[in-house]
Amino acid sequence: MAVINILDHQTIDKIAAGEVVERPANVVKELVENAIDAGAHAITVEIKDGGITLIRVTDNGGGIEKEQVANAFLRHATSKITSADDLTDLVSLGFRGEALASIAAVSMVELITKTAQDLTGIRYVIEGGAEREKEEVGAPEGTTVLVRNLFYNTPPRKKFLRQPQTEGSYVADLMEHLAMSNPGIAFKFVTNGQTRFFTTGNNDLQEIIYRIYGKEISSALIPFNCREDGMSVSGLLGKPVINRANRNYEIFFINGRYIKSSLISKAVEEGYREFLMQHKFPFCVLHFKIDTRRIDVNVHPAKMEVRIADAPAFYDAVKNAVETAMRQTEMIPEIVLQEKESRGKTGVAEESVPEPFETVRIAGKTHTVTPPVPAATATAAAAAATSAVQYDRAREYDKYDRVREETDYRAAQMELFDDKILSEQARARYDILGQLFETYWLVSYEDKLLIIDQHAAHEKVKYERFMKRFREHDIVSQTVNPPIVITMNSRERECYLKHAGDFEALGFVLEEFGGNDYAIRGVPQDLYGYEEKEFFLLILDELADEAVTGTPESIRIRIAAMACKAAVKGNMRLSRQEAEALIDELLTLENPYHCPHGRPTIVSMTKYELEKKFKRIVT
Ligand code: ADP
Ligand code: MG
Repeated sequence: MAVINILDHQTIDKIAAGEVVERPANVVKELVENAIDAGAHAITVEIKDGGITLIRVTDNGGGIEKEQVANAFLRHATSKITSADDLTDLVSLGFRGEALASIAAVSMVELITKTAQDLTGIRYVIEGGAEREKEEVGAPEGTTVLVRNLFYNTPPRKKFLRQPQTEGSYVADLMEHLAMSNPGIAFKFVTNGQTRFFTTGNNDLQEIIYRIYGKEISSALIPFNCREDGMSVSGLLGKPVINRANRNYEIFFINGRYIKSSLISKAVEEGYREFLMQHKFPFCVLHFKIDTRRIDVNVHPAKMEVRIADAPAFYDAVKNAVETAMRQTEMIPEIVLQEKESRGKTGVAEESVPEPFETVRIAGKTHTVTPPVPAATATAAAAAATSAVQYDRAREYDKYDRVREETDYRAAQMELFDDKILSEQARARYDILGQLFETYWLVSYEDKLLIIDQHAAHEKVKYERFMKRFREHDIVSQTVNPPIVITMNSRERECYLKHAGDFEALGFVLEEFGGNDYAIRGVPQDLYGYEEKEFFLLILDELADEAVTGTPESIRIRIAAMACKAAVKGNMRLSRQEAEALIDELLTLENPYHCPHGRPTIVSMTKYELEKKFKRIVT
C-alpha cells in the first residue's frame, strides 16, 4: 500500500517556488517591484552570469523593520493586503507575499535593510529556505537583496536555464521595461561589471528611450495623449521610419505595470494601419491609466496579461486616437544620399549616475557561506559610485545594432508642419517635370525634387474614394455574370455568416449554391474587374484569424478597408493631365503620404543632396 506523506515546508516551498521563479529575470522583477512598492526613487540592479550566479538589487526605499525581516520570507507574508477585499483597489505591484519565500527556497539570499527609524540595520542570510544568519549591522536606509546561485538545490530546474547570455538578455529586456514604466525612478543596470544603462528619474520618457534605444529612435517619436471614459493614455508613438519587424517594441504599461496585450497591440496596429507595410510593427511606448475596476491583473503570477472590461469600446478608443495622432504628422521620407554615418557614441554626456547608497561597502562585504563577490564586481561598483560613467555605445547589445540597421532603410524623415508639401497651397507651386519608368512622376517644388509613385498614389485615391462611399452608405453593387462559385470550409462559412450583413453593405451579393458552395452574384462596383474571388477569400481569412473584435461599426469599416486593399492595384498608364488630376485628388486626402498597404506615395530629395552628389558642395 502506498504511504501518503505530508510534505515538509521546505519541500512545499521548493515546489511552489517554481510558479514564481523560473529564471533570473523573474527574480529581478520581484525584487525591483518590491523596491518600487517600498517607495524607492533610486534602484540599482547588478547581475553576473545572466543573474544565475548573482543578482543584487539595491534600493533607497523604506526598508524592513528588524522584527519583520524573518516574516518577509514566509510564504503568504505580505504587508500589502490583509484580505481579499483589498484586491479590488490594488495599487502595489506585488501582493501575493510569495516572492521572497520562493526565491529563498531555491537560492542563497542575503538581505541588508534599515528603516529610517532604526539606528542600525539588519543582515539576514537564508539559504534553501533555512535561516543561516541574522545580525545587526550598520547600513544606510533602504534595502539590498543579494541572490546567489539560483537553483543550486534544484538541479533539474537549473538545467532548464538557458545560456547566461540569454538569461542576461531577458533581464536586460525587463530592466528596460522597468525603466520606461517608472520614469520617476533612477535606475542603473550593471551586468558583469559593466553599466548597460542608467536613467535619471526626471520623468522624461523620451530621454529614457534615448538612453536605452539611442538617438535614431528617440528622435522619431510623436507625443501621444488620449483620454476616454475611465482611462487615459500617454506616451510616444514611433514614426513609420522606425517601424519594426516584430512586436517586441510595442511596449505597454497599465497602471505602471508592463503587460502584453493582444487587444492593445491590435488596436494600436489598426490605428497605424495606413502607415505600416505588411509584416511591420510600430515602435511605441504607451502608459495606460485604467480604472482598476475595469481590469483584472490577477491572471497569472507573472502578471503580464490583463483582462480589460468593455473591450470593444476600449479597442476603438485606442485605435482612433492612434490614427488621429499619426495623421496629424506629415511624414515624407527624404532621400539621403551620403554614406552611412559612422556609428560612434551617441553623444550622451558624461553624467553622474545616481547611486542609492554605498554599494561599494556592501559589495565588498563577503561572507563564508557563499561564493564571494568577485573583486571585479566590487571595483566596477566602486567606479560607478565614485565617478561618472560614460555610456558606451560599443558595448550595447547586438539587438540595438539591429534596430539601427533596420531603421537605415528609409533614411531620415522630414517634417514641415507649417508648410506641408502635400497641401493645396503648395500644389500651386508644383512643376510637374515628367514621368520616369512608367511609374514615377517627377515634380519640382521649391528646393526639392518630389518623386510620386503613381501606383501607390492611385491605390490611395481609389481606396479613400471607396471608403468614403462606404461610410456614406453610397455603395453600388455590380452584377457578376456568370456568377463566381466559391467553396467555403466550415470555419470560413461560420465567419461569413457572422459577417454576412457587413459583406452585403459592401456590395457583395452571395447566394447558397448547394453544399459548401456559394455563388458570388454581385461585387462592389469600385472593385469590379479585380480578383473578386481572391479578395473575398482574403477578407474571410483575415476575419477568421481575428482574435480581437471592435464595435460592429469598426468591424464593418475594417472589412471595407480589407476588401479595398486587397482589390486595388494601381496598374495603368496615365497622361500628364491624368497625373495632374491624380495629384490634385491625392492632396485632398487626410493621409496622402502612404498607400493603403503602408508604402509611401511620395519621397523627396533636396537640392542640397543633389549638389552634394555632384560635389558642388563638399562637407
Ligand atoms: P509581496 O511583495 O507580495 O508582499 P514579497 O515576498 O515580495 O511579497 O515580500 C514580502 C514583504 O517583504 C513585502 O510585503 C514587504 O513588506 C517586504 N519587502 C520585501 N522587499 C522589500 C524592500 N525592498 N523594501 C521594503 N520592504 C520589502
Ligand atoms: Mg513582492
